[in-house]
Amino acid sequence: MSLAHRSTILSPSLTLAIDSKAKAMKAEGIDVCSFGAGEPDFDTPEHIKAACIEALKAGFTKYAPSSGIPELRQAISEKFKKDNELDYKPSQIVVSNGAKHSCLNAILACVGEGDEVVIPAPYWLSYPEMVRLAGGEPIIVETKAENGWKMTAEEFESAMSPRTKMVIINSPGNPTGAVYTREELAALGEVALAEDIIILSDEIYEKLTYDDVKHVSIASLSKELYDLTITVNGFSKSYAMTGWRIGYLGAPEAIAKAVDAIQSHSTSGCTSFAQKGALAALKGDQSPVEDMRSEFDIRRQYMVERLTSIPKVKVVTPQGAFYVLADISGFGLSSTNFADRLLGKHHVAVVPGIAFGDDRTVRFSYATSLDIIKKGLDRFEEFCRSL
Ligand SMILES: *Cc1c(COP(=O)(O)O)cnc(C)c1O
Repeated sequence: MSLAHRSTILSPSLTLAIDSKAKAMKAEGIDVCSFGAGEPDFDTPEHIKAACIEALKAGFTKYAPSSGIPELRQAISEKFKKDNELDYKPSQIVVSNGAKHSCLNAILACVGEGDEVVIPAPYWLSYPEMVRLAGGEPIIVETKAENGWKMTAEEFESAMSPRTKMVIINSPGNPTGAVYTREELAALGEVALAEDIIILSDEIYEKLTYDDVKHVSIASLSKELYDLTITVNGFSKSYAMTGWRIGYLGAPEAIAKAVDAIQSHSTSGCTSFAQKGALAALKGDQSPVEDMRSEFDIRRQYMVERLTSIPKVKVVTPQGAFYVLADISGFGLSSTNFADRLLGKHHVAVVPGIAFGDDRTVRFSYATSLDIIKKGLDRFEEFCRSL
């Protein structure tokens, strides 16, 4: 028996691997401080759960339209207008099984055999794998800490070839916490426009920005950019709804149609009653979003302060998401070796940067309580000073 080529080129998710190792240690009774989480530690707000339960009780349990229930697509259309200055008609919106699925659908719809996709590193680890799955080739652009881990227009330009089909921009970014400014997006947009490159803009951390930094949607900058951009967003990070598996994209009509076709033959769309919960998230009280954001902010400031005070550890203050990327190259260990020793000896779980295409760093998530953060950083500091 042999597997198809495409399944032999994918590597399993390293973030999940670390997480399961930490969980296994916990199960053995070891007191592990985990900074590995890729999801909010908060529960989904009650009114969202209530709307879903209500829908279930009312028998809203049949197949839903593959691109999403009409009232949710309408609410997303309004959200895009209100939050992002973006005009997407409901027909330009496809609701999928998480923003991850929206990204995959977009890539499957646009990227073909041999097409190149420019991805700034450190990147969210699924992007290159999705591109490979589509038969394309990821072109990784290493960004610099001194540029705030952001790809410059020059770096983007030098990664282009006649085969470049798409660029992926993730702002606020995972794992870097970087948020691109309007000017930086405009500069990248110019490069994309000159060669007609499709922009996949993953805006899942939109609601999590700090220090008065504002999220900007690249598609809102001009009509020309709008016509080239696929805007991806979802409910997982803003509303603590990771397990619900609901995300969405807004795109030019032709792309939205292609995405819907793919989806209609694969998942048939997402869970009917979960979409009612998502609808309540958009329509209901938004204060839980701000409550979670300000709690993340307190942790972020604490983490940055502590990490900065440790010799040989370098951090760029993250402006968004819920991660701090720490440069640990001063210790002369690979990121995997560093993370393995830290977990094995000091029972602290971080994700090695190699998972994100950068071996100089490790990622700390602060989607965990301040108590665990404090204890974990005490241990981390002890580990660093012992090296
Ligand atoms: C968490 C995450 C997603 C996926 O979110 P889901 O909606 O849960 O699929 C997408 N992009 C980035 C950068 C993420 O960190």
